[in-house]
Amino acid sequence: MDRRNPSSFQQLEKLGEGTYATVFKGRNRQTGELVALKEIPLDSEEGTPSTAIGEISLMKELKHENIVFLYDVIHTENKLMLVFEYMDKDLKKYMDARGDRRQLDPPTIKSFMYQMLRGIAFCHENRVLHRDLKPQNLLINNKGQLKLGDFGLARAFGIPVNTFSNEVVTLWYRALDVLLGSRTYNTSIDIWSAGCSPLFAGTTNEDQLQKIFRLMGTPSERTWPGISQLPEYKPNFQVYATQDLRHIFPQVDTMGLHLLNSMLQLRPDMRISAKGALQHPWFAEYQQQRQSQVPQLSGQTGFQVPAGVY
Ligand code: ADP
Ligand code: MG
Repeated sequence: MDRRNPSSFQQLEKLGEGTYATVFKGRNRQTGELVALKEIPLDSEEGTPSTAIGEISLMKELKHENIVFLYDVIHTENKLMLVFEYMDKDLKKYMDARGDRRQLDPPTIKSFMYQMLRGIAFCHENRVLHRDLKPQNLLINNKGQLKLGDFGLARAFGIPVNTFSNEVVTLWYRALDVLLGSRTYNTSIDIWSAGCSPLFAGTTNEDQLQKIFRLMGTPSERTWPGISQLPEYKPNFQVYATQDLRHIFPQVDTMGLHLLNSMLQLRPDMRISAKGALQHPWFAEYQQQRQSQVPQLSGQTGFQVPAGVY
């Protein structure tokens, strides 16, 4: 049977709907295997949307345990169908289902954080920025694995760094430098998004800035030389002092808060890298436990983890 044919998959219930695509659960008729089918309608006049093309060419290169696997791309007359490995839930649904004030328990937080950072580190090593990290785009399966999904906004970051638009990432997860109109940002924007869970749920650009400043303090030319040159910088920003993250996350230990603080540095050049974050002492014990399970983990996925990712 031709795998590259939509009828090779039985379409089951709808899993989600985004800006330009609808995602269905599906079953491979031949193998019985579950998949996620991301369907992108094609406008016959306009051809394939550039977001979809971008996603496809990127994802084919990005094979990693913590990145959702793209099996296949099926191109028909009126739609493009991306066949992904099936994941049980996105992180938002996972947290909503936990009730309990949507809080995850500390071991789960650590495991998800680690897996997310591994996925991000792999992207960054391969010169890919995700640019839209948020709970809806982080996928979880019932083995407790977390994988980055939705590379619709991702862009390879090659040479011309200063040509990105600043219309990226849902407002809540948008890095301070991007909010201030910087167009020269790099991998540090993904680290901000990864660190901020919906800590700063602003409604407008100004409101978002104020929420960040209230918690992390208002930056100035003294703490961030050059900040006043950014397009959206205002000399009359209300001045707030930095808050202690302990009051916001009483359930996270001191070491975890230290890492979080390194990820939420206002100055992008001061933000920890994904690779650096994976080596943070907060993960030391977790990493040791993980290493004793590595044969089992790599056996489950069958992916080759390139050297140097850990
Ligand atoms: P969009 O670009 O439209 O946001 P996404 O790729 O983020 O599309 O998919 C939309 C939603 O569909 C996700 O938030 C998630 O709930 C669900 N989804 C996407 N991919 C998968 C998958 N591989 N397995 C299970 N659910 C998925
Ligand atoms: Mg999405």
